[in-house]
Amino acid sequence: MDNEMKILVINCGSSSLKYQLFSMPTGVCLIRGLVEKIGEKNSFLKQERKDSKKYELKKEIPDHTSAFKILIEAILDKEYGIIKNISEINGVGHRVVHGGEKYVESVIITDEVIKDIEELSDLAPLHNPANLQGIKAAKELFSKEVKHSATFDTAFHQTIPEYAYLYAIPREFYNKFKIRRYGFHGTSHRYVASTALEYCRRVKENANLITVHLGNGCSVTAIEDGKSIDTSMGFTPLEGLIMGTRSGDIDPAIIDYLAYKGYDPREIDNILNKKSGLLALSEKSNDMREIADAAANGDKKAKLAMDAFAYRVKKYIGAYAAVMTRVDILVFTGGIGQNSTIIREMICKNLENIGMHIDLGLNKSVGNKTGIISQHFSPTTIVVIPTDEELRMAHDAFELLK
Ligand code: ADP
Repeated sequence: MDNEMKILVINCGSSSLKYQLFSMPTGVCLIRGLVEKIGEKNSFLKQERKDSKKYELKKEIPDHTSAFKILIEAILDKEYGIIKNISEINGVGHRVVHGGEKYVESVIITDEVIKDIEELSDLAPLHNPANLQGIKAAKELFSKEVKHSATFDTAFHQTIPEYAYLYAIPREFYNKFKIRRYGFHGTSHRYVASTALEYCRRVKENANLITVHLGNGCSVTAIEDGKSIDTSMGFTPLEGLIMGTRSGDIDPAIIDYLAYKGYDPREIDNILNKKSGLLALSEKSNDMREIADAAANGDKKAKLAMDAFAYRVKKYIGAYAAVMTRVDILVFTGGIGQNSTIIREMICKNLENIGMHIDLGLNKSVGNKTGIISQHFSPTTIVVIPTDEELRMAHDAFELLK
């Protein structure tokens, strides 16, 4: 194809790096891989080509620059790679978690953007510095002609109105520290919303959607006319739904009470982020597959964890249905939303009173594929859409670069 571009999409964490090379505009993923345990002795790279040919390399990878060199070597490898020369890569799309209030869409990365991402690290200390390491390492490796774009997890939610994003705490905390609700998972909500509209043959104008992303992190978003008008995650990804190891909504006074009982604020933060959620309720696992298996075998705490999880999602769906008056499409996505027919069934049970009629047979037969799982007369169409944040990022990079 004449205007074909190859876009490398990067999702860089503090010790891991995921990559995918797309051919655009077709969106075909040519190769995907991941580098894990960067900075540790037992680092490794795993890669899979579109013809399923797999490559694995175990090697000490001390830093992100080395990780990039190794992944480029893997993409260029004569036997396992897909391209002959690094110059075939036209652009690089990077995932950045926090774009603050400034970034409302994806952008080409300039020195100013890098400075902003650095400054926003205050709001996302675990993610933005790691994302930046990836950007800097990639910029070093590619020639100056290759452009880099940033796609922000927060950007899609910048359309949320003030009355929904402000916390009812003294204004000075917003003015001084920018404490407000930002929302995350924006790239996934945006991708599944547009795919669901296409699938249901609707246009975004005059369409109301609720998108439910249930993975290790979980969030629900209300979307009107293609714009996010509310979402369950807040200042950080801790707010909202019960997640794998995160508590979601709790009474903020619990934090003070735990401090009064002698817990250090860092420890409390660690408990709420890493030791809560499904893991805490089930006292078993943060993995829904293991929890569902245990519940099926009579484990009462596992059953309780599933009940609490589904109940919280149901509450948010009800709340967003109330603020939007009419919901045209309810979308399930993420590892749990796409795969767990039982959780979808539990969430949708008794939602008929707000016009959401699940078809239990369709729910089972659709399984983890794209498909409608509601009754044909249901005012709200319920649909399963596998998310693909990387493809969304590749499209953004392609649009910016072409
Ligand atoms: P992340 O948020 O890290 O991208 P995923 O979207 O892959 O994670 O979701 C991970 C969650 O999906 C885990 O709780 C996992 O148990 C769950 N999951 C994956 N496959 C299934 C399945 N077949 N049935 C139930 N849950 C599943």
